[in-house]
Amino acid sequence: MEPPAGTGNESAGAPSRDDGASAGSADEDRSAEAARYSHRLLHEGHERWERDRCPICFLYMGFPVGKHSKVNVCCMKTVCNGCILAARLQGLRGCEFCRTPLRHNDASELAMIQKRVSKRDSDATKYLGDKYYHGALGLSMDVTRAIGLWTEAAELGSLEAHYFLGCAYYEGHGVEVDKPRGIRHWQQAAMKGHVDCRHNLGQEKRINGNCELAVQHWMISAKMGSEASLNGIKEMFMNGQATKAQYAEALRGYGDAVEEMKSHQREEAKRLGV
Ligand SMILES: [Zn+2]
Ligand SMILES: [Zn+2]
Repeated sequence: MEPPAGTGNESAGAPSRDDGASAGSADEDRSAEAARYSHRLLHEGHERWERDRCPICFLYMGFPVGKHSKVNVCCMKTVCNGCILAARLQGLRGCEFCRTPLRHNDASELAMIQKRVSKRDSDATKYLGDKYYHGALGLSMDVTRAIGLWTEAAELGSLEAHYFLGCAYYEGHGVEVDKPRGIRHWQQAAMKGHVDCRHNLGQEKRINGNCELAVQHWMISAKMGSEASLNGIKEMFMNGQATKAQYAEALRGYGDAVEEMKSHQREEAKRLGV
């Protein structure tokens, strides 16, 4: 498996020049490139990625997404609890999205997933990686295989895969710790609207004492509905590291995002414990 672009031994191909002026201009190019990237990082990905919407009611999922929805491996669609309840009330059997009869045994579920993986479906590839990571669906736990599948899924466009790879490399789960590589995975997905990746970028800045950038990242994720990011800004405000206006802005944005994720069906599902 090829590592994502830009990782590994980057100095290997670096030009070596003895001309001082050229070296200076190469440095300028690099710093201009870094500045452009930092600008993009903070200005892109302010809308959640489309896969975070329920494919039936089109509302964004609540957080944590896994608690407010379910993945159907027949079509790899993540359906919200409100739509699951609505389907049940209509007496519909099978997948709420594609109507495939649901099978509740590991072997048939695994076969469905593998069929989609063989067609290079990014979500299925990421999902199979999860199963290897935890040793589920009758598979033996195999973290190396999980990392390989997530890497493939990330290349196919799965932002979730970037998130898990980011965590694995940042914390050294199943791989050698490589924090810059982990951060790059989070950055790539955050720029496309992955909320947890954006939150982690804020957390990383906070840990390293860059409060200004931490607030900027968390402001973006709080406005997309991340309670963890809102709480981060609140804590920083209480410690004198963020302004009252920033906390108020985050609170307002978070409230609007939460309001947009609500529906009568979802409230009913919550009440009935779906
Ligand atoms: Zn829905
Ligand atoms: Zn389905």
